Formats: sequence, C-alpha cells, structure tokens
Amino acid sequence: MQAGIYGGKPSIDWYKDELRRTVENLHNHIFKYKRDEDGQFVFTLSEGKLAREFGLTTDRISGKRLQEVLQLCSEDIMTMYEKAYEGHVLEYESAMGERIFTTTLSPIVEQGRVVEVVGSSTEITERKRMERELQEAEELYRSLVEDTLVGVYIAYVNEHSFVYVNPRMAEMFGYTQEDMMRLGAVDLVVPEEREIVLKNQSRRCKGDRSPIRYQFHGLRSDGSIVHLEVLQKTTSYKGKPAVIGILQDITERKRAEEMVRKSELLSVIGQLAAGVAHEIRNPLTSLKGFLQLMYSQQQEKQQYFHIMVSELNRIEKIISEFLVLAKPQDIAFKERDVVPMLEHIIVLAETHAVMHNVRIVTRYEPDPPSVMCEENQLKQVFLNLLKNAIEAMPNGGEVHVGVRREGDTVVISFRDQGCGIPEDRLARLGEPFYTTKENGTGLGLMVSYRIIHNHGGTISVTSREQQGSTFEVRLPVG
Ligand code: ADP
Ligand code: MG
Repeated sequence: MQAGIYGGKPSIDWYKDELRRTVENLHNHIFKYKRDEDGQFVFTLSEGKLAREFGLTTDRISGKRLQEVLQLCSEDIMTMYEKAYEGHVLEYESAMGERIFTTTLSPIVEQGRVVEVVGSSTEITERKRMERELQEAEELYRSLVEDTLVGVYIAYVNEHSFVYVNPRMAEMFGYTQEDMMRLGAVDLVVPEEREIVLKNQSRRCKGDRSPIRYQFHGLRSDGSIVHLEVLQKTTSYKGKPAVIGILQDITERKRAEEMVRKSELLSVIGQLAAGVAHEIRNPLTSLKGFLQLMYSQQQEKQQYFHIMVSELNRIEKIISEFLVLAKPQDIAFKERDVVPMLEHIIVLAETHAVMHNVRIVTRYEPDPPSVMCEENQLKQVFLNLLKNAIEAMPNGGEVHVGVRREGDTVVISFRDQGCGIPEDRLARLGEPFYTTKENGTGLGLMVSYRIIHNHGGTISVTSREQQGSTFEVRLPVG
C-alpha cells in the first residue's frame, strides 16, 4: 500500500518519487533554465516524453548551456529566453523538421527577482495539419461559393430576409452584399411574378421539401430586369429549416431562344399571310361593290350597311390578331383562359384550313380552368400545332381542337386525320430543322416544346400512319 493515497501524511520521499514519475511521463517536454555565474543560460531540468525522444533528459543536459544543447536554436528563440528571464510569460511556436511545437516560458520569481524559468513544449503538428486542412477547405468553399459565377443564397423558411448571399448574387441584382441581407426573395422579383415566389414560400412553410426549379424576371436595384433561373432545395442551416438556392443568369440564353422563337413566328405569319391577304381582299371587294351600288342608286339600303359592317369587322379581327401576335412580347405570366386564345388562333388559321380543304371542329369542356401563361407564346404554340395538323391533310379532312381538364392539368388537344408520323420519326419531333415540308422551317415544334416546358407543361404525341396524329398540350391549372 502506498502512502498518500489511502490516508496518512505522505512523506517527502513519496512526493519526490511521485513528482519524478509524473514529470518523466508527461507527454510534453518540461524544462527549466537559469543563469550561471558567467551570465549564461544553463538547463537545470529537462523531462517528459519529448525530452526522452530527443535525448534531452536532465541527466544528459543538466548544467549545459542552452546554445550548446539547442544548436539549431534561432536568434528569435534566444530573445524569448531572455525576455522570459526579464519576468514575462511568453508563448511561441517553433519547428523541428516537419514537426511543430508550441512552448510556454514562465519565470519563477523569488524576492522580486527571476531565479529560474520553467518551460513547457507541446507538439502541435497534428493540430497545425488540421488547421491547414480547415483553411484549405475554407479556401475551396470560398472559390466554390464566393467567387463562383452562379448566385448562391440561404434563407430561413419562415423568415423574410436572406441569411447568406454570395457576392455574385449581389452583383446580379446590383446591390452590395449588406444591402441584400435586408431584402427578401419577393423584393428581387418583378411585381407580376411575386405571386410565384409567395406560393413557393408557403409551400415550404407547409413542409414541402422537394427541389424546385423555375425561371423568373429579377428586378435589379436600378430597375432593370435580368432573366434568371433558380434551383432551390430545402435543408437546415444552424438547426433551422432553410432554403438553399442557386441562381443563374439566363438573359443571354433567353435572348437567343427568343430570336429563334420570333423568326419561327415570322415565318409562320409569312406563310399565313398569303391566305389572310386573300381573306381580306374578298370582303374589300364586296365593300367596294356595295359602295358603288349605293353610289349609283343614291338611296339608303339598310341591309347593305349590315353586310358592310360585318365584313369590316372580320377584316379588323384578322388584322388585329396578326398585330397582337407580332407585337413585342409582354414578359409577364398572367392568368388566362385557353378557349379565347384558341378562338383567336382559329380565326387566323381558318383561311389556311379552307385552302387545304380542312374543317376545324372545336369541342371545349364547359368552364375549363385558366392557366398561368405568357399569352402570345401560348398562342404561338397553338398556331404551330393547328397549322401542322392542317398541313398533315393535303387532301382535306377535319382537325379536332379540344380543351378538357385532367386533375390539376388542362389538356389542349389537336387531332388530325392526316398522314401521321412513322414511329421511327416520332423521336425526331422537336429537333431543330427537322421538317418534311418543302418550305417548312422545322423549328415550330422545337419552339413549342420549349415554350410549354417554360410553362411547366408537356406536349405529347400519338400518331398512326395514314390515320392521323394527336398532339396534346398539358399545362398546370393556374
Ligand atoms: P415545320 O412545320 O416547319 O415542318 P415543325 O417543327 O412544326 O416544322 O414540324 C416538324 C415536322 O414534324 C413536320 O415537318 C412534320 O413532318 C412533322 N409533323 C408535325 N406535326 C405533324 C402532324 N400533325 N402530322 C404529321 N406530321 C407532323
Ligand atoms: Mg410547323
């Protein structure tokens, strides 16, 4: 049984023994030094596992000068030793080969004089390595998130403002990063599209965690508009549910797509124009006839006026429909009924149909729901599909245009009795420049697919050779 643990006052010897064992087994290096008669620092103690490892134990170096023992010792470290002897507690880092140590020096003061200094060194190679790795990870994160070309943000699900916004995102909107922290997603979207953002936020609040991708028009600090695409995911940040989002500027891409869309539209309008000119010439001829008749008879004929007005109305309708379609695009998505859009398109395509000996038959389910859309773009899709259907029947026939509801989608269908599409060609539909027509562009379906995709919808095709094809557009109920 050892004294000191189980009662009884421990003896001095016990203390000495115990201290020696402790010091020898310290994981660190513990040492002491003092000035000798010549004013040089000499070691008085050097113990611990590190001391043993380097062969610097007390029995080997006691009484030896510091410089002699620590030959590699730099000037800086000698200054530290001096300073400690002046009464300062110091801490410094030093390296030995690949290994790094931290050392604390603390003076022992007796009667106002430093008589000795106690030092303790610990190896921190591993900690340094981890620090470096952490720093590297931080740099990697910085280049990934801070210096990247995409905008990145984090926002709590239940809070208005952002928690984090990277520099690129601030730049996209023309604000500083600090300014951005005071804003919320809603403030960065054109007013017409704020509803989409709000809908999304309420979905998130209700716990919907599915990733969301959509495009919107961002409002910059100077009032200009950028076209952006966002990809969002719900995660948690500091323990609270949060949304992390990635933003990409798609203004250029959109501009290029828009050019293709416009040129396809112009080509369609150009092709329809011949029929429309014809359509306008007929009522004009009859108007002229009536006017001549009235002129020669010089008397009032009520029924002539009636016909004249209705002919003028028809011209007006056709012309205005053309103008609406060709007008520069209104960017905002609005809630619209599809039936009036179809009716407008049918007016335009009717002469084209008559020239192909095609009848357009409509069947609309009563009160179909409205959709969120960019009206002119949807009209362009309908016009493409209707025109394709008409052109698929060189010998005439019927095109059935229908609107119905299927759950949360509105289905707009175009069914023809035309040539159909061979199965091996179905996959090529929507490829740019794929056309089987002499003066086709092969862009109509590509543009249509893209427009419908941007509306969150789909286009599907079923077809049988020599029997006909059905194109169905599905759009989410607005
Ligand atoms: P374009 O009408 O200028 O040829 P589209 O992209 O509109 O270009 O159509 C591409 C091709 O798809 C057409 O040339 C035709 O071969 C085929 N196609 C499209 N719609 C139909 C349809 N209703 N019936 C048969 N073939 C069709
Ligand atoms: Mg076409």
